[in-house]
Amino acid sequence: MAEAALLDGKALATKLRTALASELARLRREARLAPGLAVVLVGDDPASQIYVRTKTRQCEEVGIKSFAHRLPADVRQEDLLTLIRGLNRDPRVHGILVQLPLPAAIDEAEVLAAVDPDKDVDGFHVVNAGRLFAGISGALVPCTPQGCLRLIKSRVPKLAGLKALVLGRSNIVGKPMAMLLLAEHCTVTMAHSHTFDLPGECRAADILVAAVGRPELVRGDWIKPGAIVIDVGINRLDNGGEKAKLLGDVAFEEARRVASAITPVPGGVGPMTVACLLRNTVIAACRANDLEEPAF
Ligand code: NAD
Repeated sequence: MAEAALLDGKALATKLRTALASELARLRREARLAPGLAVVLVGDDPASQIYVRTKTRQCEEVGIKSFAHRLPADVRQEDLLTLIRGLNRDPRVHGILVQLPLPAAIDEAEVLAAVDPDKDVDGFHVVNAGRLFAGISGALVPCTPQGCLRLIKSRVPKLAGLKALVLGRSNIVGKPMAMLLLAEHCTVTMAHSHTFDLPGECRAADILVAAVGRPELVRGDWIKPGAIVIDVGINRLDNGGEKAKLLGDVAFEEARRVASAITPVPGGVGPMTVACLLRNTVIAACRANDLEEPAF
């Protein structure tokens, strides 16, 4: 069998950002609208700092104003909530993103619930999760699964009837991913750490999305020949002082000999997550101003 095609998230994300940049230019010109994204970072987790830098840089590049708020790891819950309530009221801010994970002393659920659902560009508020679950239009869809679906559909536009397996059941990736695939009329299985016969479940899937956080858990012989494989995992392997090596949840070299298409790590899902965040911010800004949303 031929080697799997690479699903190039970097290239697809660049395409999406280019479309967003011209939409943003049009909004500025015709509606005098300058969408704004507030990014809240608590503490000094190195990976979170990199993510926040990438997000704010890409905002500026496409023409979204970014407002970064950095708070110390020992910030009081009440002070964090006060900041979020202020951002909810700020008309310059159309999207609010609280970078996760938060320090252990912070009640994450309470913080996410404090974000105005209309500004919840991460799609983590229960109102948006509920809309997605119920199939009600108007949900702001979580960025990582949204990006995964775009990658899948770049290869196979019509997914009806295909068997999809989502490995991992987190609120931010696994569960919304399953809902999006269900909405595309896939037959969806969710697998997790208590699943019996994980390799067998995976082998039945035409589309396999791995979001586990276990380096190379999914082996080549778990994959149905010709399947589409989306690797969400980002596992940092310390290289003794050198730059950390990034591994996905899928054994890439094995998998690419069996799958028909596969995302690399890095350069697959990661760039799409950030591009979809920019898209959600533009959508939130259009809705706040009763303007038509971008069709892409
Ligand atoms: P999580 O820890 O919240 O959830 C992991 C899930 O995997 C759980 O549902 C658990 O049941 C399941 N699981 C754990 N071990 C398992 C095993 N041995 N067998 C089967 N299932 C198992 O993680 P998350 O937030 O969903 O993230 C998953 C991975 O995706 C992480 O590596 C994370 O860094 C990465 N991630 C990447 C992006 C991106 O933009 N590329 C975004 C979010 C998360």
